[in-house]
Amino acid sequence: MNTKTEFLNIIKDIKAYIKAQEEYGIAEILMMPGAGVPETKEPLLPSKSKGLLSVKNEVLNCKACALHKTRKNVVFGDGDPRAKLVFVGEAPGYDEDLQGLPFVGQAGKLLTKMIEAMGLSRDSVYICNVLKCRPPENRQPQPEEVAACKGYLSRQIEAISPKVICCLGRHAACALLETEDPISKIRGKEIDYNGVILVPTFHPAYLLRNPSAKKEVWGDLKKIKKILSEV
Ligand code: URA
Ligand code: SF4
Repeated sequence: MNTKTEFLNIIKDIKAYIKAQEEYGIAEILMMPGAGVPETKEPLLPSKSKGLLSVKNEVLNCKACALHKTRKNVVFGDGDPRAKLVFVGEAPGYDEDLQGLPFVGQAGKLLTKMIEAMGLSRDSVYICNVLKCRPPENRQPQPEEVAACKGYLSRQIEAISPKVICCLGRHAACALLETEDPISKIRGKEIDYNGVILVPTFHPAYLLRNPSAKKEVWGDLKKIKKILSEV
């Protein structure tokens, strides 16, 4: 690539970054540590993608809870198996169940903006849910469904071995930390999860209903970006 093309590409990246911040609802432009610096990827160890694939193959045939009867598709997760950052949501909704992909509906669009506002791309992180099948009418996950499905999430995280896990909402934080604390109490904290730093924040669906909470979430995302720049 010649210098001029490289320069124009940098300008394009900066413009996209500013646009993502504006779309997320950030009025002033904030530079995050490491934003805009190209990420150096570690090589894809065959064991990482193989570990993840073997969990996926099990999940695709899973009938461990009643949700298998009503699902259209299993939503295992999506993204980079080498990701340093994993987002964990609650459960697939209507769009996710139809497409077999996590966070592709309205809340997913906001999550994509949040990731881009951090100066990252959706493909550079990994996104999954506590439950891999949609609860009918998007009702809350039941304790027995979480209990049946949780092992897949732990093994998925173990195979990826990220530096940071961002739990989106109460269900993800409760499933991984086995706590009953409300999300408002644990939001923004850095909590150890088997040597990985776990940061709970509000779910993007909650932000769609309460846009004023975006400010707090933005603070949590900045914290995550800082942790990632230090590891
Ligand atoms: N909400 C979630 O928690 N997960 C999805 O995949 C979509 C919406
Ligand atoms: Fe299996 Fe989880 Fe789907 Fe239940 S929600 S059927 S435990 S994959």
